[in-house]
Amino acid sequence: MLVVMKAQATPEQIEAVCAHITQLGLRPHPLPGAQRTAIGITGNRGEVDRGNLESLPGVAEVIRVSKAYKLASRDVKEEDTVIRFAGTDATIGGEELAIVGGPCSIENRDQAFAIATELAAAGAQFFRGGAYKPRTSPYAFQGLGLEALKLMAEIREKFGMRIITEALDKESLELVAEWADVIQIGARNMQNFSLLRMAGRLSKPVLIKRGLSATMEEFLMAAEYVMSEGNYQVILCERGVRTFSDHARNTLDLSIVPALKRVSHLPIVIDPSHGTGRRDSVLPMARAAVACGADGVMVEVHNQPEIALSDGPQSIYPEQFARMMNEIEQIAPVVGRRLPRGIHVAATAR
Ligand code: PEP
Ligand code: MN
Repeated sequence: MLVVMKAQATPEQIEAVCAHITQLGLRPHPLPGAQRTAIGITGNRGEVDRGNLESLPGVAEVIRVSKAYKLASRDVKEEDTVIRFAGTDATIGGEELAIVGGPCSIENRDQAFAIATELAAAGAQFFRGGAYKPRTSPYAFQGLGLEALKLMAEIREKFGMRIITEALDKESLELVAEWADVIQIGARNMQNFSLLRMAGRLSKPVLIKRGLSATMEEFLMAAEYVMSEGNYQVILCERGVRTFSDHARNTLDLSIVPALKRVSHLPIVIDPSHGTGRRDSVLPMARAAVACGADGVMVEVHNQPEIALSDGPQSIYPEQFARMMNEIEQIAPVVGRRLPRGIHVAATAR
């Protein structure tokens, strides 16, 4: 159910409606929009009695949301969600594109700083690096853990770039929330519902990668888990799905971009690195991602991919990252977007 407030509804009226919903044993989710505030209701098993709600001051109408996902739906919030990072001009969603680059795994200080230096010089606003790695083999490199989080905090301090890194479980989630700016939930954990709920109780944005065989609805239901706990700062990330195609590691499903834009207000970024598994396919698919309306691109970059501890074959060289930025900068205006270069950080936010 969704309570649509009148455009001129006061904050007190919105609060009173939320209090009423809470009194019914349900959970209110006030989502302010440009024109009006809508209040999503979750926790109801059947229909909510709309009579009383409709008569409260400031309420325009009470409507049923028929989709399985509610808070992620455009029915609840018409405008695109824009995620902001306090004290900076970096955003994810909205007119400006978000470009994320960095190694699959943080391997050591020299590697992390060498890559970060090049990415900052090319104008990246976001840095990614794995600290906790979900590896197919238990014998493969599992990540440096907290040491990697600390290195990335130093990178944020030095270059201003905001940090995105994956949390695998409860323990790493708490640490990632403490040290990083965006919590990444990996493809293999997209349906780890208890992890999603835990992330929903935190106040950092959550980037959810599409599961290896997840439908769009399942993908949006993962976002719904996070949002149902009160964290509405969710970013979706398409990273390829499993198909019969064998020319690439996965099939990057760019057609999900317009499909998601139709039904959801959440930002969607594209990961052409995991999406193709091939260095030579990353730039073409990054260009296509921007052309089809994605809100950003996340790519793996390594200064020495030949000896990378994970995902070397799909990691691009820093020079390729710089070229990708130039290409994206030219494509962006064709689709009404802009590529910001570099991040501006207020002194107090450092
Ligand atoms: C990653 O981003 O390094 C990663 C492991 O991605 P995914 O969960 O999409 O496989
Ligand atoms: Mn990787």
